[in-house]
Amino acid sequence: MQCWVCGLAAQGVCRFCGRAICKDDAKTLPFFLEVFPSNGHLLGLALDDALYCGICQPKPEPVPMEFLEKPSEGE
Ligand SMILES: [Zn+2]
Ligand SMILES: [Zn+2]
Repeated sequence: MQCWVCGLAAQGVCRFCGRAICKDDAKTLPFFLEVFPSNGHLLGLALDDALYCGICQPKPEPVPMEFLEKPSEGE
């Protein structure tokens, strides 16, 4: 796997978009692993420094996930 940015060997994968990324180009962003209701409030399990490629633009708000409901057509 090669880094999306510079083409060298990648050391990780962006948590948000799945692009492969090397250590030099990798950045971090907070990432919510899970959100669950508790006593009428929503609590989230968060990771402060999830691997981020710096290219994609994760949305701050949840977006509809209808596309996950369709059967994938292979890789
Ligand atoms: Zn790179
Ligand atoms: Zn990304």
